Amino acid sequence: MKVLVLNCGSSSIKYQVFDMRTEEVLAKGLIERVGIEGSRIKHQNMRAEELKQDVSVPNHKVGVKLLLDLLVDETHGVLKSLDEIVAVGHRVVHGGEAFARSVIVSKEVLDAVEDCVPLAPLHNPANLMGIRAMMDTLPNVPQVAVFDTAFHQTMPPHAYMFGLPYRCYKEYKVRRYGFHGTSHYYVANRAAEMLGRPVEDLKIVTCHLGNGSSLTAVDGGKSVDTSLGFGTVPGVIMGTRSGDLDPTAILYIMEQEGLDSKAMSHILHKESGLLGLTGISSDLRDVEAAAESQNERALLAIEMLAYGVRKYIGAYAAAMGGLDAIVFTAGIGENSDVIRAKACEGLAFLGAKLDSNKNKVRGKEAFISTDDSKVAILVVPTNEELVIARDTWALVSDAAR
Ligand code: AMP
Repeated sequence: MKVLVLNCGSSSIKYQVFDMRTEEVLAKGLIERVGIEGSRIKHQNMRAEELKQDVSVPNHKVGVKLLLDLLVDETHGVLKSLDEIVAVGHRVVHGGEAFARSVIVSKEVLDAVEDCVPLAPLHNPANLMGIRAMMDTLPNVPQVAVFDTAFHQTMPPHAYMFGLPYRCYKEYKVRRYGFHGTSHYYVANRAAEMLGRPVEDLKIVTCHLGNGSSLTAVDGGKSVDTSLGFGTVPGVIMGTRSGDLDPTAILYIMEQEGLDSKAMSHILHKESGLLGLTGISSDLRDVEAAAESQNERALLAIEMLAYGVRKYIGAYAAAMGGLDAIVFTAGIGENSDVIRAKACEGLAFLGAKLDSNKNKVRGKEAFISTDDSKVAILVVPTNEELVIARDTWALVSDAAR
């Protein structure tokens, strides 16, 4: 009953092995710099010392073979044989409008994921490489695709359409898709469990704040709006991405600096956000440290991020016609009491009151609202791998029935 979870980036492979009887993680690891000089693997079996090794990994297939060998290795392994793996679950970034839930991979599924490559040109090809490498290496093991976009497929058209000519949607599929769906799904459901109430009865704003960030309005367990969109730039400011801005500003900058779309894309994705505003770092820890020394741009970036989060919470409370819980997750959401406190400032009119003592928590599940707050405010560490493992296990168990 072992499920392997794989998250392939263009130059990385992350993996975890779950025992689905207990949902325990037996081993996890990361292969970095796949296809680039200087590749290395970090592998941790929960019983032995962590293994760190420089290895040659020219492509994803070699990486997959390497990690499978490690899983059955005498010292570092956790399996007697690869036959123990009942299924492999893959994180797939973009499922377009084709996938509203996880699926067992077939030829048709591969074709449909391939069709979504233009929508996620950096991510989907890497995800496909991982799936194909696994299919070649373990041809008899079912593969399952779990999509970052799937949870948001419940958004109504008035939330996902843009005010562009309709042909842009019809011909080019330009609309809001949203991302981090697996994370929003997990923390919304976990928050409902912590509250002891059915998720179907709750209106929740989930704030996934990390290097990439998005907020989602989760009404009755379903995503009804989310702050990332067609791509991964809109919403609140991120590590290196700008967040919401006026599209005419983009056109103006391109004209002023004579930039083509590739150069402008680089600015929006890699040179903006916390890094672009502060000129210091994309990492909030560095920005917070600079703000403590009264660095003006660091102070501004922190205000902007917190203000953005607050604005979305208010907007989504209005969109849902109420609010029962606010959930913070991901690197910033789980760790930064500063951002959480500033984001919740002035939300008492909505019934949301943060307890500054309880808010001192880091990286673990906690209620951080005051005892008399009508709206619960929670920190819930995300666990996308567990959702992928559960979906994978559920699909293959169903198929076996
Ligand atoms: P993620 O993308 O979810 O891994 O989040 C990464 C981001 O979380 C980093 O860029 C940091 O800005 C932020 N982060 C992690 N730990 C802390 C911390 N202790 N305080 C503030 N921010 C943190």
